[in-house]
Amino acid sequence: MSDCLFCKIIAGDIPAEKIYEDDHVFAFRDINPMAPLHALIIPKQHIATINDLEEDHAGLMGNLFLAAKQIATDEGYAEEGYRTVMNCGEAAGQTVFHVHLHLLAGRPLQWPPG
Ligand code: AMP
Ligand code: ZN
Repeated sequence: MSDCLFCKIIAGDIPAEKIYEDDHVFAFRDINPMAPLHALIIPKQHIATINDLEEDHAGLMGNLFLAAKQIATDEGYAEEGYRTVMNCGEAAGQTVFHVHLHLLAGRPLQWPPG
């Protein structure tokens, strides 16, 4: 989508610090990190929110988690643990309407989240 921030990052039109890419998934460091590791893992296909998922996106969503595991392992956080979060809609704090899995690690993470 031409007016989507994350589609522009995938296209290279807006700079980002890439940390992972494969055929279907792209990941980069969050510009406003909430933890020593804060990555955003996104499908290359534009999907606005979880509410827009269709049955044939199931594998793609699994690929986001496989990328999270890979990044956490590469960055040395797989053993101590990490958190993945996907916000859906404004009430949950979603501000960019291209689905993204937050990967957070490197500090104690409280539960429940705010
Ligand atoms: P959410 O609030 O779940 O929609 O998350 C959106 C995330 O995108 C926030 O954590 C922002 O800090 C992050 N973000 C916004 N613009 C950029 C950008 N240009 N590069 C990297 N991360 C960004
Ligand atoms: Zn997009």
